[in-house]
Amino acid sequence: MSKGASLFALFFAVIVTVSAQKINYYQGHIALDKDTDRYQVQFTIDLDSADRSDTLKFYLHKDAKLLSIISDTATVNYDIKTEKFIGDNLVIYIPSRQVSNGHLTITYLNSFHKTTTENFQNDKNWKELNIYTVWFPLNLAYGFFEHTITINSDQAVVGSGQISKNSHTSTVTSKIPSFDIPLIINNDLRRRKIMKSDIVIYYDRLHDTIVDHVEKHIIKNYQALKTLYGEPETEMLAICLNDFNRGIAYARPSFVSMSIGNTFSKRNMKTLAHEISHLWWNKADVMSYEDWLNESFAEYSALLLSRSTNESENLTTQLESLSRRVQKLAPIYKIDKLKNENSNEVLTYKGAYLLLQLEQQVGKEIMIRLLRDIHKNKITTTAEVINSITAVAGRDVSDWFLYELKR
Ligand SMILES: [Zn+2]
Repeated sequence: MSKGASLFALFFAVIVTVSAQKINYYQGHIALDKDTDRYQVQFTIDLDSADRSDTLKFYLHKDAKLLSIISDTATVNYDIKTEKFIGDNLVIYIPSRQVSNGHLTITYLNSFHKTTTENFQNDKNWKELNIYTVWFPLNLAYGFFEHTITINSDQAVVGSGQISKNSHTSTVTSKIPSFDIPLIINNDLRRRKIMKSDIVIYYDRLHDTIVDHVEKHIIKNYQALKTLYGEPETEMLAICLNDFNRGIAYARPSFVSMSIGNTFSKRNMKTLAHEISHLWWNKADVMSYEDWLNESFAEYSALLLSRSTNESENLTTQLESLSRRVQKLAPIYKIDKLKNENSNEVLTYKGAYLLLQLEQQVGKEIMIRLLRDIHKNKITTTAEVINSITAVAGRDVSDWFLYELKR
């Protein structure tokens, strides 16, 4: 997840309490005002039935102007404060007993020039919303959620998940639980479909030569992974590129946003390779520690790809550099993603390090055979992975592997 990962960790450092509340779903409608850069948002949030003595807490952008909060048809009374979360934010406090049937509808106004941060500077064309701009009412302690967002506008819209469009409306639906609702809205967005797949590059203000370069890189990685593992699970991936001089690249299910300017750095390449690898590695439950099967297998795949393009990288140098990074991290096995602030680092890099170690023990050929089987058999749990390791490399290796997972 590149630099996004460190921000991800930061959020979880901010929120230490894990609530009994749970958000299942966000259903959002955005109405853009054509003549100004203002927008009105209405979110219906679907919550698991809450402890009725509890108080719900939602963060929102500090300049959002709240219009109403209702539950089913009743008006909800709430308190508003200002607190630091991602910068200064509004915090809405709602007594749980006012929530009927787990539904809450929050309506507010904001504008793009206000929903801008140091890292996400919206301009006349490129408008980007995500967790860093706190544009939707959120509380990370309520867990991961699915979302459907409808935008009343004829502008191009890209987001995480399936995108559908008719004359004046775009809808983005994500069935993979995540902690974010990213959107890019842009009238001048150009697009390139990669071969006949559902991988699409969306870009603005970049030279064709740099987009050609990125496209070649994606095709090369995609084909190399297909040779290694067989057909991917899905081909849906939106790769959004702009020339803002922005340090953050971030990735959500089937969505990547990065700023590449007019150079495509080694770091950008690595981020893209990891994200393309998720087309094969995205089957395990993202809510639990089993997500290590998604993250570490994607990272390990990116390392394999990187070895074939960078002469300075080989198994030994990769082991060395990751060993420093993961030295003091908590065990992967049954790590609590919401409670541990380094969970992303553990699931991605400590997991990838363990896979490199496994490769060192069994050799690359057996390693690839193992990965192919795990992909082909749609394996989604650690227990099944251990069984596969036993089958291809024997009991001693799988015992060692499980011991390392718990260490
Ligand atoms: Zn990932």
